[in-house]
Amino acid sequence: MDFDLTDDQKAIQDLCRDFAQNEVAPQAERNDREERFPYDLVKKMADLGLMGLPFPEEYGGAGADTVSYALAVLEIARADASTAITLAAHVSLGASPILLFGTEEQKQKYFVPLARGEQLWGFGLTEPGAGSDSGATATRAELQDGKWVINGTKAFITNSGTDITGGTTITAVTGTNAKGKSEISNILVPQDTPGFTRAKKYKKMGWRASDTRELAFADAEVPEENLLGKRGKGLHQFLTILDGGRISVAALSVGVAMGAYDEALKYAQQRHQFGRAISKFQAIQFKLADMLMEIEHAKLMVLKAAWEKDNDRAYELTASLAKLYSGEVSRRVVNEALQIHGGYGFMDEYPISRMYRDQKINEIGEGTNEVQRLVIARQIGL
Ligand SMILES: Cc1cc2nc3c(=O)[nH]c(=O)nc-3n(C[C@H](O)[C@H](O)[C@H](O)COP(=O)(O)OP(=O)(O)OC[C@H]3O[C@@H](n4cnc5c(N)ncnc54)[C@H](O)[C@@H]3O)c2cc1C
Repeated sequence: MDFDLTDDQKAIQDLCRDFAQNEVAPQAERNDREERFPYDLVKKMADLGLMGLPFPEEYGGAGADTVSYALAVLEIARADASTAITLAAHVSLGASPILLFGTEEQKQKYFVPLARGEQLWGFGLTEPGAGSDSGATATRAELQDGKWVINGTKAFITNSGTDITGGTTITAVTGTNAKGKSEISNILVPQDTPGFTRAKKYKKMGWRASDTRELAFADAEVPEENLLGKRGKGLHQFLTILDGGRISVAALSVGVAMGAYDEALKYAQQRHQFGRAISKFQAIQFKLADMLMEIEHAKLMVLKAAWEKDNDRAYELTASLAKLYSGEVSRRVVNEALQIHGGYGFMDEYPISRMYRDQKINEIGEGTNEVQRLVIARQIGL
């Protein structure tokens, strides 16, 4: 078994670490406080090829593997979770469905600008009444005179309302199947579609610099050819996308945990009480040792899932385990890292305060911890 990264993987890790520490970290606190979307960082990530990192070069991507992509998300999340989710949601949720299920024409028209990082794209599954139960989709699309006429609402959609967003792929009920159940299909809805509106950004506890909005469709019309993949396969397609998305969300969680560990280690060596650095107290040393142990474990699971995907192995179970475990590890690690900061950790000027808020969504987004356990139980045949 070989634990060494390849030269290419190492080069991408180094590039992302430098970029994250030198360009992302210095503006993380301001972006969080001002809820400022990092357009400049997205442009830089596009210039570095990160916005299309794991996509084929023929479609404008960088042709890297999933391991490299996971390392990129991890390094950026170590500096700032908002920037990392902007990248991860763009690649795994926004762009991937069009590459995987789109026609050649859809790929040329919609996917290529995404792989180049010129535009962002949303993934619209969640609705006010359909969260974990994504099959409860109520948004409807009716085919009338060669057009889909869409009505409904989507909730919590990342990257859906920035100045550079090209559109969102949504799930919608397009009819009833032979079993009498809702037939759900995916439809590409460009931003300038009449009747399609984005609400103001949500006021969020964490990921405050990222763009998350409610979407409304009132007789919004798109051409029939904007159907993505086969009619009636929408939910199945989105669940396939979520399998891959779990690797990047898990990498993001590990990155947040590593960032918190970095801060705690530094602080423990600087802060003196009782005449010595608090890092000299065994209670603090044990916390740091436990944090590192869990981070290392979670990171190995993420890289294993990414490796399995790259090598065409079944990766779904490892990805689910990695997503669940790294989300929980990030909670324990940020909590202990803040504890090591004492009262200063409760102050906004310390990065650990932001990391503590940013962590929570790791246990909710792309499948809550509870739903993740259900997914794992299903995967082991229960
Ligand atoms: C910042 C942010 C960004 C997001 N970005 C996107 C996006 O880009 N696209 C998108 O489509 N969605 C997005 N989401 C939505 C996210 O995926 C959902 O919030 C998540 O899937 C949970 O759905 P819910 O919030 O409706 O919670 P609910 O499903 O209402 O769950 C509430 C509670 O009930 C539990 N629960 C539900 N069902 C079960 C069950 N069967 N067994 C046991 N417990 C259960 C849950 O685990 C949870 O604890 C985003 C959310 C946030 C907050």
